[in-house]
Amino acid sequence: MPEGPSIFILKELVQPFVGKKIIEVKGNSKIDLQRLKNQKIIEFKTWGKQFLICFKNSTVRIHLLMFGSYLINESKDISPRIGFKFKKGELNFYNCSVRFIEGNLDTVYDWSADVMNPLWDAKKAEAKLKDKKSMLACDALLDQNIFSGVGNIIKNEVLYRTKIHPESIVAKIPIRQLRSLIKDAVVYSFEFLQWKKDFVLKKHWLAHNKKICPRDKIPFSRANLGKTHRRSFYCNKCQKIYV
Ligand SMILES: [Zn+2]
Repeated sequence: MPEGPSIFILKELVQPFVGKKIIEVKGNSKIDLQRLKNQKIIEFKTWGKQFLICFKNSTVRIHLLMFGSYLINESKDISPRIGFKFKKGELNFYNCSVRFIEGNLDTVYDWSADVMNPLWDAKKAEAKLKDKKSMLACDALLDQNIFSGVGNIIKNEVLYRTKIHPESIVAKIPIRQLRSLIKDAVVYSFEFLQWKKDFVLKKHWLAHNKKICPRDKIPFSRANLGKTHRRSFYCNKCQKIYV
């Protein structure tokens, strides 16, 4: 699943379509796509893993889910879920979820919860975490209402960097460690962005998909942990469990 930084890259790539009129819409999405014909794209936004195409009175929300993809100025043989043609160029999305959002986006999205948004608010994240009595650290990082944009790779890497065991109970994590977890969720997301752009992201993984802990040279544990049940890679020696 593409994480926040990958959707951020998509937003940068499609900037040439801002202000451009859609001359043709197609796709097998069940929503009324034709209402977008002849409309101009006002801007593109992201909220975590959600990609937002903003029009005058409405917004199209695209979520690439597990297997979604997009093509710019190219198309596949299969029908896109939603595809736009412009006077110059095209933009196609496949295997994704497509929805309309009506009205003001500020009433729908809490921008301060998005780790890559300039409005990101670490204090608010801290307050939300303090409110989660029994939540595990591995679930907290994936909670999009607290860390919008963080996905499984960022989760594994941030827990490893901050030496916090994924099964730690958030309420038991000392405040210093909790703050470094919040800080690193942001720092790592921007490093992810740069590495992804430079095609060197995987090279920088220390824990995700790795077999041996670089700090202790012992095998990582690997399990689907927490309510989110996503793959976790962690070291039982250097990642402290707070329970
Ligand atoms: Zn270790």
